[in-house]
Amino acid sequence: MNNPSDAVGAALRAARADAQAQVAALTLDLRGVIDASLDSNADDEHDPEGATIAFERAQVAALLAGAHRRVAELDEALARLADGSYGRCERCGQPIPAERLAVRPSARTCVGCAR
Ligand SMILES: [Zn+2]
Repeated sequence: MNNPSDAVGAALRAARADAQAQVAALTLDLRGVIDASLDSNADDEHDPEGATIAFERAQVAALLAGAHRRVAELDEALARLADGSYGRCERCGQPIPAERLAVRPSARTCVGCAR
């Protein structure tokens, strides 16, 4: 139970669950925005409401893409944890400082190499 990789695995899985929940929530949001645009005549580009909805839709879509990416990154981090390469910089091979992993559990490189 005191194996540090257990704690890391739990943190990664918790972060993945959060990201997955965000994907679900944003997918619903996006559907809501699309439905709203179908309800009104907002597909008329001269309608100011249409521009707002298009903007909102783009914003939600961007957030959704980000959440999908986080899920994928955390999946990769879990795979690296399983094969023993987790926490090591992909570029220089040095261990990634724990503080960086605490902030960004899916980090693949140390701060120096991330620049
Ligand atoms: Zn490095």
